Amino acid sequence: MGFTSRILHSDRRGGIEHGALHKPVHNAVTYAYDDAHDLAAVFQGKQTGYSYGRQVNPTVTALQDKISLMEGGVATAAFSTGMAAIGTTLFSLLRNGDHFISSSFLFGNTNSLFNSFAAHGIEVSFVDATSVDAVAAEIRENTKIIFVETIANPRTQVTDLTKIGELCREHNLVYFVDNTMTTPYLFQPKDVGASLSINSLTKYIGGHANALGGAVTELANYDWETFDNIYDIYHKGDVSNWAITQIKKKGLRDFGASLGPEAAHHISVGSDTLALRLDRACSNARVLTEFLSSHPGVNKVYYPGLEDHPQYELTRSLFKYPGALFSIELKDLDCFEFLNKLDLVISTSNLGDTRSLAIPVAHTIYYEMGPERRAEMGIDDSLVRFSIGIEESEDLIADFERALA
Ligand SMILES: *Cc1c(COP(=O)(O)O)cnc(C)c1O
Repeated sequence: MGFTSRILHSDRRGGIEHGALHKPVHNAVTYAYDDAHDLAAVFQGKQTGYSYGRQVNPTVTALQDKISLMEGGVATAAFSTGMAAIGTTLFSLLRNGDHFISSSFLFGNTNSLFNSFAAHGIEVSFVDATSVDAVAAEIRENTKIIFVETIANPRTQVTDLTKIGELCREHNLVYFVDNTMTTPYLFQPKDVGASLSINSLTKYIGGHANALGGAVTELANYDWETFDNIYDIYHKGDVSNWAITQIKKKGLRDFGASLGPEAAHHISVGSDTLALRLDRACSNARVLTEFLSSHPGVNKVYYPGLEDHPQYELTRSLFKYPGALFSIELKDLDCFEFLNKLDLVISTSNLGDTRSLAIPVAHTIYYEMGPERRAEMGIDDSLVRFSIGIEESEDLIADFERALA
């Protein structure tokens, strides 16, 4: 079955109360048991069931199952945001004295988060992950994890995902892929040997900017028996579930960044149309980048679907489409003036919405990191990032044409 046919019926196939077509929003925080033995069995993991909402909720479970289905994974833990998913997963799996390698082309807040890990005795090396050799050069005795994004924003560098997967296998490292920019519809991290895939559900998967959420999915590619940071108490049952159990216990139960049932419902409904929205948005991005590439007012267009992009071939080999996000550098026009002239395209910070969005990167999301780190990441002061939505392409072109005139 195709992507949409599979996910569209996942709630129903999970067996829904009263034959409802959507998993209902269960707002209950706690669940009662007639026999207290059952309550104890649930706590001890001997019986599946619901106890307290910080750890599990039926509406959230249904969404987790749907994400696992999308990713071809065995289990998913959902969180209140994408950042919570990244932060709590690394917190759960790393210990004082560990080292991990991260792509230097990163979502701004992930970059900020990783810099905070050093204060807790966990070292990080930032490397150019478009080159597997650069990544390999940073591997040390105490390296535990390699963390990458698929297509980095705003400059759209594409990670050498297959080769880094091979490198991780060779050195028995946990391979963590942030799949937010591509989603499981455009790319399956499982196929390149990723151990865990993370998605900010806030972006394309939810898709309507009406709910925050994040998820981590276990892809059953890593032998957790060889990972010495899994606590003995979680050495139970199928080995492929050890890490996700620890993430749920240490990260979710103890840290408490749980996804609410209302948000889970919004995200699940939004995700039904993920493939349709991305088909349209990626097609719009292709048409617009072609138009902008030849426009005299534009200095440079960064989009991995353009032939002059350094990872154009790699992109074609990895992803169904090159995504719906691109950035441009303007020639003479001031970026604020340009943004203010756009009418359909909204100045805002989100991405992955149904509507087209734009942001002057250096002055907003990358402002705090300062000019040096920005230069390292290739972020020019005039750089504007676009997350293209599902409007008709003619209308978008007309809007850009007018604003650039
Ligand atoms: C937005 C984003 C995140 C964080 O997700 P939130 O839901 O906003 O916390 C992480 N990684 C990438 C690549 C993102 O775009």
